[in-house]
Amino acid sequence: MRIAIIGAGNMGGSIARGLAKGTIIPASDIIVSNPSQGKLDELQKEFPALQVTNDNQEAVTGADMIIFSVKPWLMKPVVKELKLKSKQILVSVAAGIPFEELAHYVADKEMTMFRLIPNTAISELESMTLIASRNASKEQESLLLDIFNQMGLAMLIPEEKFAAATSMTSCGIAYVLKYIQAAMQAGIELGICPKDGMRMVAQSVKGAAELILNNDTHPSVEVDKVCTPGGITIKGINELEHEGFTSAVIKAIKKSV
Ligand code: NAD
Repeated sequence: MRIAIIGAGNMGGSIARGLAKGTIIPASDIIVSNPSQGKLDELQKEFPALQVTNDNQEAVTGADMIIFSVKPWLMKPVVKELKLKSKQILVSVAAGIPFEELAHYVADKEMTMFRLIPNTAISELESMTLIASRNASKEQESLLLDIFNQMGLAMLIPEEKFAAATSMTSCGIAYVLKYIQAAMQAGIELGICPKDGMRMVAQSVKGAAELILNNDTHPSVEVDKVCTPGGITIKGINELEHEGFTSAVIKAIKKSV
């Protein structure tokens, strides 16, 4: 399996790094294309076996899978100018472009396509990656899941659920970061220096996520464990609810769909 990545920006660069660090695809079978040389040089310094080019057609020729990671408005011109073969797998990272639209950019409307929405934690191999497929076999779906499970957690969902799930994961990571920032602000007022506060809260968020992911428990079960009757945590929880925390999160996620 040879993989071409078109666009070596935040997403494309992180996917290239994640793939090259993983065990499924050897770095020598990955080729990355980008117009400017700087990002390619950085990638090749980290992974000398990785191939790079400034020529998109050179990258896709001989590739089994092509991951397009350019800005959404560049997808049409970038895909259309390439000669893609029917048996190649097209993977689009571009947010908001449905399969129906992508199919207009290629000669073979029935070619296998995937849409991917990772989040920025892909650079830490901790992405929540959403995957939707079109005209793909079970084996091809499993391959995509295997590749992106190496970079965090990957989930195959129907395309019609993509917008809602994107809001919860790709936008959602920013909402979690805003919680970290808010908690740091409170800590500063209470005399905790920002650097210490940042690490304290970030580790607490990571720990909360691990409790859920490792044990498959419901968040309310974990919240109950912390809320001693008459204790301090329930006072904070009730204050969050009085201030509309749950409602604000629901509204934010619905707003960014
Ligand atoms: P970016 O600007 O960091 O990267 C885009 C890269 O494409 C740049 O390196 C640019 O030089 C390169 N490029 C421009 N024209 C090109 C061309 N003709 N051929 C090849 N490469 C070209 O953007 P990004 O944040 O990596 O976003 C890329 C895609 O990922 C977008 O479509 C976006 O919707 C999607 N996405 C981003 C996020 C996120 O959180 N950043 C999450 C999910 C999906």
